[in-house]
Amino acid sequence: MRRDRPLGKGAAVTQVCSAMETAQATLKQPLDAYRVAPEVTARCDPAWTRFDPDRLPARFPAQPILVGNEIYRHSVYGQNHPLSIQRVTPAIDLARALGWLDDTVYVESPQAEPNQLHRFHDPDYVAAVVEAERTRHVSAAVRERYNIGRNGNPVFAEIFRRPATSSGASILAGSALAKVQRGIIHSLAGGTHHGRRDMAWGFCFFNDPVLGILAMLDHGLERVAYVDLDAHHGDGVQDAFHDDDRVLTISVHEDRRWPKTGPLDDRAGGLARNLPVPTGLNDSEFALLVTRAVVPLVDRFFPDALVIQTGADGLADDPQAKLELSNRALWDAVAALLPTAPRVLVVGGGGYNPWSVARAWTGIWATVNGRDPDIALTPEAERILRDLTWNHSRGRNPPDHWFTTLADRRNPGPVRDDIHRIIEAVLKP
Ligand SMILES: [Zn+2]
Repeated sequence: MRRDRPLGKGAAVTQVCSAMETAQATLKQPLDAYRVAPEVTARCDPAWTRFDPDRLPARFPAQPILVGNEIYRHSVYGQNHPLSIQRVTPAIDLARALGWLDDTVYVESPQAEPNQLHRFHDPDYVAAVVEAERTRHVSAAVRERYNIGRNGNPVFAEIFRRPATSSGASILAGSALAKVQRGIIHSLAGGTHHGRRDMAWGFCFFNDPVLGILAMLDHGLERVAYVDLDAHHGDGVQDAFHDDDRVLTISVHEDRRWPKTGPLDDRAGGLARNLPVPTGLNDSEFALLVTRAVVPLVDRFFPDALVIQTGADGLADDPQAKLELSNRALWDAVAALLPTAPRVLVVGGGGYNPWSVARAWTGIWATVNGRDPDIALTPEAERILRDLTWNHSRGRNPPDHWFTTLADRRNPGPVRDDIHRIIEAVLKP
């Protein structure tokens, strides 16, 4: 249900610096409470979000647009890494094969420049990632200081360009959305929600959702909601906006899974909400959490924009978490969230089974376009799925439905008491 609240000032703002000053003047908290690279904010340097507006297809904002990049077709995230699978490319190829995507609504992501990444990230850390790409090597000191080359954050050929490209997509999307009254941008490669200001963390080198939200705020939007549906806690985004009353972060994640943050009572200074769910979460439980807790919380916040992180690792077919969702549950959640804000950036996230990621994310693109993703696959779409490979024990004998369907069978089930407890707790003021 749409509300009648007028849109934020950002809709009419064209001068970025004056927009930033206006936004800052209306902050309930002084600038020194704004913990994200305040020195950059204070300089009021809008250049970091400047992208050529001609990059955007003319059909935006009337139609949702999809942001991708060919870099994901060839970039390999190190050998035997969970992210060494194909994810973004097959989802885009599938959407094209199903007739849901053409060049009038597609844009190649620009690559963010280091100075754009500095809006959130420490310049010395960004320089270390650039250097790691140039030399394909990190010293022991860099490994220790920045967590590069260890703990699932490998040195690989595109270690800078690849995350800089997904960050470029979110910066472009945040800037573009802030300039229109309403619109939807879907960036499949975004959603690197663990990235920290000064170190790699949880396969994430940069934090594109944070950069996208900052672009929205710097262009004059006043209130941004961030909903994280990934199986892991959206720790990097939550921490970036700790104490910042312009950004509501909500994370639904498996309880006690890495990084083991985000307990039920963690509100990160006030606005954050965490919904740590039990293993085996089923579609009925997820739907209840979304409709009774997440959507009302976002509605109550009256956001000027919403970012939805659609990590697919909560799906039953994913090897990295122990949740049991069907992809239909994810699509239903996205459909329920879309009307809660006039501007929406949909990003990807985790997801470590190439078939379940591609099918889920193609279905999300259908969902943002108001299409029913539950359709019979075309021969070309089936070929794209059959061409995928996965070096994992669960990929040795893939079940037939991974090739022949887009929609999973729904996984309804009993709603456990834990779920009711979570809903009650997060709705408390
Ligand atoms: Zn995840």
